[in-house]
Amino acid sequence: MRIGFGIDFHQLAEGRAFWLGGVEIPSTRGAVGHSDADVLLHAICDALLGALALGDIGQHFPNTDPTYKDIDSKILLAKCWQLVKDRGWRVVNIDSTVTLEAPKIMKYAPAMRETIAGLVELGIDDVSIKATTTEKMGFVGRGEGIVAYATVLLEKV
Ligand SMILES: [Zn+2]
Repeated sequence: MRIGFGIDFHQLAEGRAFWLGGVEIPSTRGAVGHSDADVLLHAICDALLGALALGDIGQHFPNTDPTYKDIDSKILLAKCWQLVKDRGWRVVNIDSTVTLEAPKIMKYAPAMRETIAGLVELGIDDVSIKATTTEKMGFVGRGEGIVAYATVLLEKV
């Protein structure tokens, strides 16, 4: 067994599409980034890479590389999963927490869980997504940004 942890941050801004967990969530504000800025998928990518000490998402997909400009982060997660799978591991489960002030996202959790489960060959019950605010404190509380945390457990096949 191996455990992996990932964390990711993005700024929120007006006029950006808001992608989270591979799902587009209706919002006037979205996350800013070189890719589609899907903070949850990025945290899961880092957790997968971290479990096998394969570095981080920035090393695998540099934000200076035009290949990854506005890329769908589902493609990045699929690539990270392939690295894990190629080494003979499977995912046991994923747990995650997203911290943001608005909009409310839990209505979209089933769709996000299904999307993530499909990408890493899991059942929906093996993918957990939780959400919290920071009670108006700090940059998340002021609505300036969004943070996602993810933990994965891998098992050697
Ligand atoms: Zn990111």
